[in-house]
Amino acid sequence: MPLPDLLVLSMIRPDQMRQLEAAYTVHRLDLAEDPVAFLAEVAPRIRAAVTTGGRGITADEVAALPALEIVATSSVGTDKIDLGACAARGIHVTNTPDVLTDDVADIALGLILMTRRRLVEGHAYVASGAWAQEGPFALTSALKGKKVGILGLGRIGQAIAARCLPFGMRVGYCARSEKPVDFEFMPSPQALAEWSDIFVIATPGGAQTEALVSKEVIEAIGPRGTLINIARGSVVDEAAMIAALQDGRLGSAGLDVFAREPEADKALTSLHNVALSPHHASGTVETRDAMAQLVVDNLAAHFAGAPLLTPVG
Ligand code: NAP
Repeated sequence: MPLPDLLVLSMIRPDQMRQLEAAYTVHRLDLAEDPVAFLAEVAPRIRAAVTTGGRGITADEVAALPALEIVATSSVGTDKIDLGACAARGIHVTNTPDVLTDDVADIALGLILMTRRRLVEGHAYVASGAWAQEGPFALTSALKGKKVGILGLGRIGQAIAARCLPFGMRVGYCARSEKPVDFEFMPSPQALAEWSDIFVIATPGGAQTEALVSKEVIEAIGPRGTLINIARGSVVDEAAMIAALQDGRLGSAGLDVFAREPEADKALTSLHNVALSPHHASGTVETRDAMAQLVVDNLAAHFAGAPLLTPVG
């Protein structure tokens, strides 16, 4: 039996790439010098596609692959995968939930500490010699007793909440539906922003949540408030956020994700009241290995005729 043909749109971890090469005839679109010509040559044979959250797969690419049966992404987010195009053809989609939850929640807490305790500015104060010249650094704001509002109380949102409690913070949330939890439920992002000292975004990206955190929501977080985004840049009106950070209508922001990646808006890098991270919340060796293994295991289940481990939808 010939091995099934598999298209790599974006590579996963080395050990799992070796596993793919042992089980499939692998075609590396990610390495192709002329991707259009390469795809035209291999497309009719491709039965499976491997991608990542930042790369996804477009409707045009799905249309170009007539034998495609499954798309496996090494990400929990599916906002760059044209799910409609896949569903219309009965193409399975798998993602990698749960295995990345703890790392992403850790980075949310890191960004909270970096912004509220002004760790980025404190580092620069020591490194520049300002401490010796200008004296003690300005006082910052305690976490204990502060209200953390989480927009999207799913796997990652709940893990963030669990980390906030030992710091003595209060948790509130907004989601599409109320959850059986002890945290206060707010009916809208606006209501959550008015309640929060620290507003954390943990929803999916995509059309459903585009600019859900609007200019009005940002202004409700306010001059003493902090916006943390570990979800997707598209969930925030980024231009409104930058303007509010520049003129003090928003106190500070801790951002792992941006409207345009990897070229984050230059205006952000000149602000003193931000902490920036290169979309790296799941970026540990352990978690990326676990995500990549889930990609391999989902594909193996599919070609063995077994139930998929983590199907989308
Ligand atoms: P999840 O378990 O599906 O949770 C998503 C939550 O968002 C749910 O509580 C859902 O509410 C809520 N939600 C969806 N649409 C909403 C809306 N319009 N308004 C308010 N709440 C809404 O997903 P997860 O595993 O926690 O992952 C969340 C997202 O984190 C991913 O989709 C991805 O974009 C992002 N992420 C980022 C990184 C990174 O490296 N920065 C890594 C992993 C994931 P209901 O339960 O009421 O439907």
